[in-house]
Amino acid sequence: MPLDDDALFACPVCGTHCAVGADPTGGRRQHFIEECPVCCRPLVFDVTFDENGAIASVRAERE
Ligand SMILES: [Zn+2]
Repeated sequence: MPLDDDALFACPVCGTHCAVGADPTGGRRQHFIEECPVCCRPLVFDVTFDENGAIASVRAERE
């Protein structure tokens, strides 16, 4: 069973749909900063997981 899950999001800077890796073992709600793979701007992510460890919601905002 893979530990990492891909959180799909639309970059608020360049508008591209991308995926960021998120680890469900890190907690039900996670807040982290990751660069957009397309425009390389730092984005603040707010990811929540459901009780099965699946991604429930993803929010990406400009830092
Ligand atoms: Zn971007």
